[in-house]
Amino acid sequence: MLHPHHLNTTCAVCGETCRFTIPEAASSVGSRDLDTRPAEPLRSTIYAWVKRCPSCGYCAPDPGKAQEGAADVVKLPRYRGQLDARKFPGIANTFLCWSIIQEDLGLPARAAWASLHAAWVCDDEGVDVPARICRKRAADLLRRGWEKGERLAAPEGADEALLADLLRRAGRFREARAVVKEMLEKNPEPVIADILRLQARLIAASDRGAHTVAEARRFRHPVPL
Ligand SMILES: [Zn+2]
Repeated sequence: MLHPHHLNTTCAVCGETCRFTIPEAASSVGSRDLDTRPAEPLRSTIYAWVKRCPSCGYCAPDPGKAQEGAADVVKLPRYRGQLDARKFPGIANTFLCWSIIQEDLGLPARAAWASLHAAWVCDDEGVDVPARICRKRAADLLRRGWEKGERLAAPEGADEALLADLLRRAGRFREARAVVKEMLEKNPEPVIADILRLQARLIAASDRGAHTVAEARRFRHPVPL
């Protein structure tokens, strides 16, 4: 069995030696949320998915590596402001900084994932407004990715199902309903259609909460009472 251990690395931006705690390797048991968030125990390892160099503030899954141009983004006022933005939990800021780097380097799909991960941190901290801001940002980035021909997931309709969840949980019900309606008219595969129908039901109930893919399946095959 693996136990939490430490990773020593040299920051690719400033050259400082950094030490990070890495959790025990984990998989997930049980259904994912509709926004792909895995079940436990993987769910709780999120704090270690992106790391922050304590010296220069570079945030990345592996601060020992940096894409070309990343060091310049770290200096931008927008990045410096996000690093310690009081509105967001600290780990959410780390994800948002990684998201800003990806956005600035022209990788909106990766930036969208990072923003969604920031929303999950906000969910865990019970801070609603920042969670909605992160989801709105993820939705905008996802759409920008589409314009560039980038998709987050391969199956047809999977991105739209994720977008519907981002918008619903951000409280943007009208936009979410439009995404669901448009995608259902394209007759997606049954798994996606089930999820979209669950989204439609949640939107109709003004439900902004987290729900799982398993619920979408139950909705399709209701258990007789
Ligand atoms: Zn550094």
